[in-house]
Amino acid sequence: MTMEQTQPKQEAVAHWGGGTQTTHPITYLMLCKSLTTEEQPCQARPMQGSEFCYLHNPSISEDEKRDARSRGGKENQIVLKTPLPPLKLTNAKDVIVLLQDTINGVRSGELDVRIANCLGFLTDKLLKAYEVAELNDKVDAMERFLEKRKTR
Ligand SMILES: [Zn+2]
Repeated sequence: MTMEQTQPKQEAVAHWGGGTQTTHPITYLMLCKSLTTEEQPCQARPMQGSEFCYLHNPSISEDEKRDARSRGGKENQIVLKTPLPPLKLTNAKDVIVLLQDTINGVRSGELDVRIANCLGFLTDKLLKAYEVAELNDKVDAMERFLEKRKTR
C-alpha cells in the first residue's frame, strides 16, 4: 500500500509494460513470425506446429503456394448465374419480400446457400436498424409532446 502511495507513476508504467502479467489470454492468438514486403509483422495465424503462416512457411515450395493461390481463388469465388437486381429496402415489409425471394431461391436451388446465409445475416442487421430508428422517432415525438405541455 505504501509503495502505491509513494510511487503511483512507476506502478502504472510497470503495468503498461506488462512485465509482471505473463498469463495473458491472448497468447493463443500468436501471429506468423515473418515480415511482409513492407517490413511489417505478418498478421496471419501460423500453421499448426509451425511459427509461420502458410505463405511464409519455408518448408512449402513456391510452386505449391502458387498452385494453392490460383486454386483457392477460383474455388472460393461465389458467382450468381444471373445477378439479382437491386431491391429497395426501406421498411420491414420490403425485408419480407427479400426473405421470401431468398427462401424460394434456396428451395429451387437457384441461390447459393452461402449467399442466402449472408443475406439472412444482413437482413437481421437491417431489421435491428429499423427497430432502433423507429424507437428514436418515438422518443423524439414524446420529447416534442412533453415540451409542448411544459410551455402551456
Ligand atoms: Zn506470414
